[in-house]
Amino acid sequence: MVDINKEDIQRIASWRKAGLLLDVDSSSLTRADGIELIICSDGDHSHDWITHHHQFNKRIHIFSHHGGAAVLGIDELDNPLRVALLKQLVDGAIMKDIHTIVLGVHYPCAWARVKDISVDKLLLMLREAYFVTKALFSSYSEKKFPPQQGELLEVIPILHVFSGSKRRQYIVKM
Ligand SMILES: [Zn+2]
Repeated sequence: MVDINKEDIQRIASWRKAGLLLDVDSSSLTRADGIELIICSDGDHSHDWITHHHQFNKRIHIFSHHGGAAVLGIDELDNPLRVALLKQLVDGAIMKDIHTIVLGVHYPCAWARVKDISVDKLLLMLREAYFVTKALFSSYSEKKFPPQQGELLEVIPILHVFSGSKRRQYIVKM
């Protein structure tokens, strides 16, 4: 399992102190119509992602691949996984009438380490993923999304941190 270093722990603590990372609670994540959840495939942490979100939502439409939501924030706009994931998000939201997308990244992440992506860069990619997803669905809303209730699409970016034996999830303030 990839370990976190002292500098990154301090960096994340300073973001929390500055109000950039907010604790996840039931009111921030409970959605009656469920969520689409994008996470990294990492088997050391996927159980925590799913059990954590299952406390708040029994209807979780999951997309899992290396890097999770960071793939939406990569520079290669025509990356096949990125393109396919964007289409899947729209299809899933329409097919299942879901209005909330949770964009998940985690740190330390083996995929990020292989690609030499720091925690700072990972958050920048999550920010980009947030805006890409918001823009994608706003273009759909005029045509066919949301299909029924007319609710606005909500996008919730989350950073999952593994430190020592503890796992925490934070909503990243945009
Ligand atoms: Zn990972």
